[in-house]
Amino acid sequence: MSHVFHRHLKQQYPTAVAGDGPWLIDSQGRRYLDACGGAAVSCLGHSDSEVQEAISEQVQRLAYAHSSFFTTEPMEELADFLVAHAPEGLESVYFVSGGSEAVEAALKMARQYFLEIGQPQRRHVVARRQSYHGNTLGALAAGGNAWRRKPFEPLLLEMSHVSPCYAWRHQWADESEADYVERLAAELEERIEQLGPENVMAFVAEPVVGATLGAVPAVNGYFRRIREICDRHGILLILDEVMCGMGRTGSLFAAEQEGISADLITIAKGLGAGYQPIGATLVSARIRDAIANGSGFFQHGHTYIGHATACAAALAVQQAVQSRGLLARVRTLGEGLNQRLQQRFAEHPHVGDIRGRGLFRGLELVADRDSKAPFDASLNLNGRVKMAAMEQGLMCYPAGGTLDGRQGDHILLAPPFILDESHLDEIVDRLGRAIDQALP
Ligand code: PMP
Repeated sequence: MSHVFHRHLKQQYPTAVAGDGPWLIDSQGRRYLDACGGAAVSCLGHSDSEVQEAISEQVQRLAYAHSSFFTTEPMEELADFLVAHAPEGLESVYFVSGGSEAVEAALKMARQYFLEIGQPQRRHVVARRQSYHGNTLGALAAGGNAWRRKPFEPLLLEMSHVSPCYAWRHQWADESEADYVERLAAELEERIEQLGPENVMAFVAEPVVGATLGAVPAVNGYFRRIREICDRHGILLILDEVMCGMGRTGSLFAAEQEGISADLITIAKGLGAGYQPIGATLVSARIRDAIANGSGFFQHGHTYIGHATACAAALAVQQAVQSRGLLARVRTLGEGLNQRLQQRFAEHPHVGDIRGRGLFRGLELVADRDSKAPFDASLNLNGRVKMAAMEQGLMCYPAGGTLDGRQGDHILLAPPFILDESHLDEIVDRLGRAIDQALP
């Protein structure tokens, strides 16, 4: 028996031993086409020689230097790269080791910002239901995912949650897009009024919802409206791009497609593409300057901030994304994947919706195609699809919003950017077989 404490203690997993581009290979020699990048992580596939070389060079030169004594060259270069490509106003980068840490840092930075500028009562955070922002206690509190939160209540932050914004037409069938945006804006305004705008610190949202709903972008104009509300009330906007950022949707930052910037943006996953654990919080000049000119010290930190090897890996990943023109490739392949999904599943009796951007696509599985009624939660259908897909030699991610108001079963696809068209056919074929095998 393995001594690994695995999260799913009743399940057995194959042992992954090697990677080959978009494939993972287990100890029995079985090959799995990675159609989800693990969890939207492995954007360069699994054996990129340029990244491998960058890591080994860095390890030989200097693996690690503690950030309270030094910065390092890869850390400085990676920060320069990110700021050069980030939405307007984001001018500093705080490095961490993953997505939850990036969210924790953003929340604490927002809090410290208001302390520094003499508004200590601004503590309340508003986020959205059906969201996931990480599993550490602060990030868990921010997420609007009832079943994850419940066992750990009372949580650490003063939080409230408002409705998410669905790009799926059937969620707001009798309204225009503009009216839908206005309804969500009115709900947020009302919540802010109830809390007292002077008490609200931040609004947190994923530009494209990933882990809970499966690649759901907001409708047109929603984020511009949110930005405007935050600005009017002096509330900070934190965009969580841990899953949808770093090129996944076809632009380096998903916020670019919304035409807005943010006060803080969190990234991870695709930043290091799984070659090293790394995340980051991008910080606006206003927040950085308030802390720099105030106490001069951000009251937060971890041992592996700006880990030299992790930064070298992420820098090599991002240079590869740029030099190989992979953002354009994400857009083209994303269209190709969408077309194939539409062809294969648009008439499927148990597929309620197909949506997404770039190489970030989701399928909603429903019991009834017309009413969009979900399957019974006890079936764990998306989990069954995941296991059936593994039997078909395919990795797909079971996104599930089992929440205040169950939101059904969703399958998330987030494959590496380095695929070719034949891999898209393979993904859709294998997924089709897995769904049909898993259906009750
Ligand atoms: N935010 C979002 C939007 C995520 O999707 C995730 C991970 N699924 C996290 C935060 C947490 O990241 P990590 O698992 O690296 O801590």
